[in-house]
Amino acid sequence: MTDHKEKRFIGDKELKPESLMMSYGYDPMLSMGAVKSPIFQTSTFVFESAQAGKAFFEISLGLREKGPTEELGLIYSRLNNPDLEILEDRLTLWDRAEAAAVFDSGMGAISTTMFALLQPGDVVLYNEPVYGGTDYFIKHILMRFGIEAIEFHAGIGTDEIRQRLVQAGAADRLRMIYLETPANPTMAMVDIEECARLARELGTPEREVVVAVDNTFLGPLWQHPLKFGAHLVLYSATKYIGGHSDVIAGVCLGRADLVERVRTHRTFFGSMAGPWTGWLLMRSLETLKLRMTASMKSARYVADYLAEHPKVDRVHYLGHLSEGDPQFAIYKKQCVAPGGMMAFDIRGGEADAFRFLNALKLFKLAVSLGGTESLAEHPASMTHADVDPEDRKRHEIGDGLVRLSIGVEAPEDQIADIEQALEAV
Ligand code: PLP
Repeated sequence: MTDHKEKRFIGDKELKPESLMMSYGYDPMLSMGAVKSPIFQTSTFVFESAQAGKAFFEISLGLREKGPTEELGLIYSRLNNPDLEILEDRLTLWDRAEAAAVFDSGMGAISTTMFALLQPGDVVLYNEPVYGGTDYFIKHILMRFGIEAIEFHAGIGTDEIRQRLVQAGAADRLRMIYLETPANPTMAMVDIEECARLARELGTPEREVVVAVDNTFLGPLWQHPLKFGAHLVLYSATKYIGGHSDVIAGVCLGRADLVERVRTHRTFFGSMAGPWTGWLLMRSLETLKLRMTASMKSARYVADYLAEHPKVDRVHYLGHLSEGDPQFAIYKKQCVAPGGMMAFDIRGGEADAFRFLNALKLFKLAVSLGGTESLAEHPASMTHADVDPEDRKRHEIGDGLVRLSIGVEAPEDQIADIEQALEAV
């Protein structure tokens, strides 16, 4: 699989990721000429000889370095599987990552990455708000293992972030800066480049501070955190990468040595995705750009409509940030486009938000995002119900906030549905 990397080029011309999603990393001649990779629905792989099996284990367990021409062969599907390896190769292309590892969920990717890179006594600095599951994992699970978490509000500057850390007496124990930008559900942004600078400033040769970015909301098309100094990028592949609301998966990609450490933990946590998931995601990647572009274009119409509506107090949408707002400067620097996500505050509270949600006909009332169908949900009582009510207030996750994931339906139909649902409020 890895021996097809030269196929990224035609002569000197490097092909775009969308041109490579149908072929990269796969040799049909290894699978009887099948144009598409078969689903390698197998738990284990036959070794050509006992010596070959021994060599694979030596490399896989890190007992010795791989020889210059040696390939790590297939052993067992918790370690590696062709569908996952081809998929991982393809996923590296969008973010220009050295390596990628696929998981059986976004939370599998996040939790495995944190456990792989953090140890008791370490500090992780992270922005709020974050996805509710990540918030719970950091606050309630990591701390049981002696890992201290220090949060900062997305939207504050690096000087303030540094100050928070110093005040907490934690700067010399910092091991990871974990960002979710834009943040779920308010779209608040954090400056990745500034955080990477802070990580370099506070790290030492013995204690590198790793910057990991959950890029689920904009990636892999509209934001590329590695370009701004992040070491790792995390995805809930359940969202845009999967894109059809029919698969749960996650990804960690970035610098090869870090991904290798994460991969080793994946083997022992057993958080590897299966071959069927790998195959589904490869199929999804072929249309990633088409889907994300359609969703991004429609989102602009929907956000413009909402911004003018008398029953809407505020729209949280990256495309509406304006010059002079520090968030706009971050957006301009690190984002390619505003994407297909937004949230808005309905005038009133929970009852009004619920009336709107219950009246929707085309939008589905469901959590998750990034699928072909438009979805709407109520963060305060659903995805962020676990977040402390005081924290929810601080981070502007109000009772009237509704989050929308814009799908690929015609924008006029999306707007018609929103219009009639707002009449019910
Ligand atoms: N990160 C973000 C930003 C999310 O929105 C989610 C899920 O909604 C996750 C991570 C977790 O992903 P998964 O549900 O695939 O475990």
